[in-house]
Amino acid sequence: MPATPSPTVAPAPASIPARAGTQIRLNGVTKDYGLAIPAVADVSLTIEPGEFMTLLGPSGSGKTTTLNLIAGFETLTAGSISFNGADVSALPPHKRNLGMLFQNYALFPHMTIAQNVAYPLRERRVPRAEITRKVAEVLELVQLTGRDDNYPAQLSGGQQQRVALARAIVFGPTALLLDEPLGALDRNLRASLQMEIQRIHREVGSTFVFVTHDQEEAMNLSDRIALFNDGRIEQVGTPESLYEAPETLFTARFLGDSNVFELARRADDTVVWENTVWALDSRTVSARASAGGRAALVVRPEDVRVGADDAAVPAGVNSVPATIRDIGYMGAYRTAVLSFGRDGTVGRARFDATQTDLSVGQSVTAWWRVDKQRVVAV
Ligand code: ADP
Ligand code: MG
Repeated sequence: MPATPSPTVAPAPASIPARAGTQIRLNGVTKDYGLAIPAVADVSLTIEPGEFMTLLGPSGSGKTTTLNLIAGFETLTAGSISFNGADVSALPPHKRNLGMLFQNYALFPHMTIAQNVAYPLRERRVPRAEITRKVAEVLELVQLTGRDDNYPAQLSGGQQQRVALARAIVFGPTALLLDEPLGALDRNLRASLQMEIQRIHREVGSTFVFVTHDQEEAMNLSDRIALFNDGRIEQVGTPESLYEAPETLFTARFLGDSNVFELARRADDTVVWENTVWALDSRTVSARASAGGRAALVVRPEDVRVGADDAAVPAGVNSVPATIRDIGYMGAYRTAVLSFGRDGTVGRARFDATQTDLSVGQSVTAWWRVDKQRVVAV
């Protein structure tokens, strides 16, 4: 990530240098509200300067609490947080100098767009001429030039969120924290604002910490994703590494669709599911699964093919008898909903739209390449 100094950097509190690309480090961060499990439990994570880091996870997994701890809106039960190596754990929010963006735009309705965006600069006693220049600059960045004198109510939801984004970055914050900022927008608008946020991240070059429960949004936007589960980080990595090399069944299921076979037995080069013995490539066993304990074999629907009979199955692949429960037409391809084995484990496969020898109710053979499967911890 280029750590180019932003032209919109305002004087920051002496405690934190305001510059693009701050490193944010969470060390054993815990927040306990006295519930059955802590809201955030022993989270350690280093967010690199200029990185786009997404905190992803189901509702209630501790994402917002983590963001609020970084912002200083909540106090730590245990652990510490540092910005560029300086401990900020005891600093009040305003001294952390962060930009924030939430789902609800929280614009001041009685102020114009320009006044809204100027607000954090006025608070920081930036000279008037500089305010005018920076507001113009940042409105251009969010493509709202010329709307200075409008009021929030005169703008669409997407435009209002762009104003809130302008207001959150105009003062050159230490980092930008975004909590489900697109959650209130419809699908098309969300996609276009995702692209805007990505572009602005590139142009500004500062550290973004983005919270969402939407895995597609996370995959689309992030340099890295920290996947949360019950207040803990399940796995951290690039979108590709989480999708292609999940450590656990939780990760495999949360990012994309998976066929899941809970394994009865494992040896060095085979696994057993029900009565079926499959070949195993040790390179596709996750580190967490290697450590022992219960494991499952997972394989993505796009990697599973369906043959009308055994003769249609190539040599050297893993296969399993299946029954077709449903067929869906997706344009370029078709998907089959399958049930496998004695317990009727439900799964999915993909096949070419030109393959016409398959129908609902048919007994078939599902197969996949050994290197496409992965053994994960359950
Ligand atoms: P997420 O943003 O991932 O949906 P949260 O961080 O909001 O999750 O919540 C994590 C857990 O902490 C949930 O069980 C939630 O009910 C609990 N929690 C969050 N804030 C508070 C609070 N102020 N008081 C008590 N419990 C809270
Ligand atoms: Mg939340």
